[in-house]
Amino acid sequence: MTAPAGHLVKGFPERVSVVEVGPRDGLQSEPQFVPTDRKIALVNGLIDAGLRHLEVTSFVSPRAVPQMRDAADVLAGIDRSKGAVLTALVPNARGADRAAEAGVDAMVVFMSASESHNLKNVNRTRAQSLEGFAEIVRIAGDAQIPVFGAIATSFGCPFEGEVPVSSVVEIARAYRDMGITTLSLGDTTGMATPPVVQERCRALREAVPEADIALHFHNTRGVGLACVYAGLLEGVTRYEASIGGLGGCPFVPRATGNICTEDLVYMLGECGVETGVDLEKLIGVAQEAEAIIGHTLPGQVMKAGPRLQTASMDSVATANG
Ligand code: ZN
Repeated sequence: MTAPAGHLVKGFPERVSVVEVGPRDGLQSEPQFVPTDRKIALVNGLIDAGLRHLEVTSFVSPRAVPQMRDAADVLAGIDRSKGAVLTALVPNARGADRAAEAGVDAMVVFMSASESHNLKNVNRTRAQSLEGFAEIVRIAGDAQIPVFGAIATSFGCPFEGEVPVSSVVEIARAYRDMGITTLSLGDTTGMATPPVVQERCRALREAVPEADIALHFHNTRGVGLACVYAGLLEGVTRYEASIGGLGGCPFVPRATGNICTEDLVYMLGECGVETGVDLEKLIGVAQEAEAIIGHTLPGQVMKAGPRLQTASMDSVATANG
């Protein structure tokens, strides 16, 4: 059953896309290598639950991120029959060649809105990152593969603090000038708050109206879903999340995982927003993800179940007070 559980909240879009990023953003920070067949099973489970946009891997250097060294094999094993759009991160021309050969549906280039995080994350200035994207866009164009652009630290930087909204707008414009209009605003270290989300969504809509924006929150300070709520009120229709709340960022101190896919799908359903995702199946996949990585995940709905899933009275001890 995938119909929303609740009535549509006034001002919300009727339907949104939930973009699963756990297999990439989540797994890349797991210290133990997750075997390729288990990664494939995880992605196939997510597709079976109704997800149709998934960031499944990253064509980074296998030395830099050994967890992603099986990128091409993961892609080759995923069920393509349901028309899911499979994307992968691509850091450079070499990665773009590999991604094209592996048959990704879209390449995702990424840079940070703040100079210091970009230096730390990819060892380039922002200007150097943008320069490098031209070659990726050319390779993708030759292979007729679309390119999406991610902007990390869009809501704050762990090294610089506040990130001016003008920095985010400037990068969005630079992406647009390269023909990249499918954008994602990343909150790498969970610094977004609802008013900041509102401010940035409005600024971007004004400055780059042709951009199709996704929001990518981490739940580092517990306000990830509140930020989604703010995005919904701004009419944003794409949200990135990871199953069970997998993840973190290996280059950022005290980083935690993305907002949880199943918690997000639960909230959207209760708010009357259609996602096409089967929550029950998704909870099963979250439990499977926990088994795969061998430790507890922060997801909450996977533990408590949906609100109207009742327990039998006999299953609970009677209180004395
Ligand atoms: Zn992230």
